[in-house]
Amino acid sequence: MIVILAIDALEYTLVEKYQCENLKQKYYGKTDISEFSEPRTMVLWSSFMTGENKEKEILKLGDKEMWNARFDIKETFFYNFQSPKIIDLPGFSYDKKIHEEERELLKAYFSTDSTEEKNKIRNDYNAHAFSHHREIKNQFLDAMKGDHDFLLGYFSIADVIGHLNFGNSLMMKMIYKDLDEIAKEIKQNHIVLSDHGMKAIGQFGDHSEYGFWSTSFKDLNNPKITDFSKIIVGMM
Ligand SMILES: [Zn+2]
Repeated sequence: MIVILAIDALEYTLVEKYQCENLKQKYYGKTDISEFSEPRTMVLWSSFMTGENKEKEILKLGDKEMWNARFDIKETFFYNFQSPKIIDLPGFSYDKKIHEEERELLKAYFSTDSTEEKNKIRNDYNAHAFSHHREIKNQFLDAMKGDHDFLLGYFSIADVIGHLNFGNSLMMKMIYKDLDEIAKEIKQNHIVLSDHGMKAIGQFGDHSEYGFWSTSFKDLNNPKITDFSKIIVGMM
């Protein structure tokens, strides 16, 4: 089984700062996403799974409709595997309702002026994100015991929590440590990959202009996100 730990907004500098040795593995670095006009989650994961720059195609759908984009397995490198399991990946198997609820709460947070209301919404938003994270973590740890030849688990917690709480270093460190624990559980050959990282905008977080990768077997230097389909198929 080849395993991909796909983490939204895993930030290179925080992996180093919090010394997440399991996320780092033996070789690690930044990915090059400079071919994209902005680091957008849906664009980047779509480009990852198809091995092609899908920015134009996704942006054509518009800000709202882009979250409904879904690629057929035949358009992705997952098709090379006999029994792939892809958990919650945007553009493929992701739980639209859950992620819509997150975006609604985020919108509500920024559209109220009341501090009290903001605090309440942030608490709901965070609780929602942590609960979804626990669910995905269980699914992922379970799937590793199954007989899939390919497993990808997509974890959105660092992105979702980061957007509203990036200035809360205690909370961010806790999340990175938890993701590091998940990486520690992977005994199979695997790649850790993020679409983009995150930078501070006051107490909030915004996407940074590079992603993160790591492997135990090869230095990938400064790969593009569209290089991974070939790299992963080459691991078979
Ligand atoms: Zn984001």
